[in-house]
Order: sequence, then C-alpha cells, then structure tokens
Amino acid sequence: MEIAELQAVLRRTYVERDARRGRDATFRWMTEEVGELARAIRTGDRENLVHEFGDVLAWLTSLANLTDVDLEEAAARYASGCPRCGASPCVCEFRP
Ligand SMILES: [Zn+2]
Repeated sequence: MEIAELQAVLRRTYVERDARRGRDATFRWMTEEVGELARAIRTGDRENLVHEFGDVLAWLTSLANLTDVDLEEAAARYASGCPRCGASPCVCEFRP
C-alpha cells in the first residue's frame, strides 16, 4: 500500500470524526498510542508490535489530514537518504 493511498483511506474513514475531535485532541491520542508502542517494544511481542505500529501510523495520518499535510510530500524528505548529509547510510555524527 502506498502512503498516499493509506492517507486517502483514513481521510474517507475518519476525517469527520477527526475534525470533530480537533487537532489538539488528535495529537494527544497519537501520543497515547506512541506510549502503547513503547510498551510493545519492551514486551517484544511481535503481533502486539505490529498492532501498535499500525495505530501510531493511523493517528499520525489522521493528524496529517487535519493539518493538510501530504504524507508523500513529508516522506520525500527522506527519499534520497539522510536529509542532512545526503548519504545512505547516513554519515552524520552519531546521536545516541
Ligand atoms: Zn546524515
């Protein structure tokens, strides 16, 4: 599935609810899902991990829809490798 296709499906599916909830509340829901992803990473359960990645991606996409951000355009920043050094793999100073 293409990023643009996912964004279109989620727009069709949730945009009215997302708009009713608003940007701030949608952002808060996304951060809750990021917390659930953090827990899934710690437990290491693969099925749960895939589930939580999907939820974070969906909430991120809802937020993009609410802020009129095209995720294809956003992803393009990384399409040619590291946006800072331009290399792939990145040769920037490592940040632990
Ligand atoms: Zn780099």
